[in-house]
Amino acid sequence: MHEIPFEEILQKLGELNAKKVLIQAPEGLKKETQALAEFLEMNGVEVIINGDINYGACDLADREARMLGCDVLIHLGHSYMQLNLEVPTIFVPAFAKVDVVKTLEKNLDEIKKLGKKIALVTTVQHIRDLKRAKAFLEERGFQVFIGEGDNRVSFAGQVLGCNFTTARVEEQVGGILFIGSGYFHPVGVSLATKKPTLAINPYSGDFTWMDSEVERIVRKRWGMIAKAYDARKFGVIVSIKKGQLRLNEARRIMKLLKEHGRKAQLIATNHISPEALEGFDFDAYVVVACPRVPIDDAGRWKKPVLTPPEVELLLGLREEYEFDEILGGRRETDEPLGISLKLPKGFCESIQHSGD
Ligand code: SF4
Repeated sequence: MHEIPFEEILQKLGELNAKKVLIQAPEGLKKETQALAEFLEMNGVEVIINGDINYGACDLADREARMLGCDVLIHLGHSYMQLNLEVPTIFVPAFAKVDVVKTLEKNLDEIKKLGKKIALVTTVQHIRDLKRAKAFLEERGFQVFIGEGDNRVSFAGQVLGCNFTTARVEEQVGGILFIGSGYFHPVGVSLATKKPTLAINPYSGDFTWMDSEVERIVRKRWGMIAKAYDARKFGVIVSIKKGQLRLNEARRIMKLLKEHGRKAQLIATNHISPEALEGFDFDAYVVVACPRVPIDDAGRWKKPVLTPPEVELLLGLREEYEFDEILGGRRETDEPLGISLKLPKGFCESIQHSGD
């Protein structure tokens, strides 16, 4: 279902003079790590596979690669995210082999409900098809806008579960068309932009409107905020994953809580889970890390768990519900790390050690 360019990875490793590598992948690509390891070892490269669960490019195993004495980290499944890396890292986004345009054609009547002007977004798996999808829709009379986004994403039109800057285009659009599978990304698009969002799944050929799901989530979030109303002692959680570390934001939230008569303690952890918090005696928690942790795992928490904007709602500092997005910086034409943000000729993007 996904293309992993073995030969090209080997060539990149040659350019980097790598003799020993660590391979990291999300759950859906774990099997591919075995095949890649076998191929690289046949070609004289020593390989270690990272066995941890990986959630995104925010969660790179570059520190582990350095500790294991590896020259390079090969990160499968996600595109480049600008972070201070401890070893050169090759990002290998896994592109899907599925015909996106066929699904658009099938769902044209539904797409028309978004209006003539639409913003088009997708995940990295389908990013190569975005231009073709745009051309197809324009031929059928739509005005299609693809946002550039900030530098947390690698490609125009790409969304992450925590960053929807590409869905915000300057033009007034009727709604947002998301191409991809699952609810995770399109729900985020709708939560973050508050625009009608239609998700077209190129694997099943089906469509889903996000409105009712988003309404349900926002209702639940208000319930969570109400549950935290009488909480006096807050644990404010930051993640030590490089792409989720938001220490300044956590300090800002601590200050707000204290100014409003609550106690707040900073907690740092790698993997945020209800089990990891069980031993503590806090009345409520604020997650200042991946914004999807409090929302997507909502049913698993025993105590109220809020995002930073939800704390502001709790304290009466804002009125309207806002999604907690992690924003990057302005995208520069000359990337400081020398990375091409355009689609590479092949698939791999590699970056050199940038230092801490
Ligand atoms: S912070 Fe969360 S949503 Fe964002 S890339 Fe990481 S795992 Fe995905």
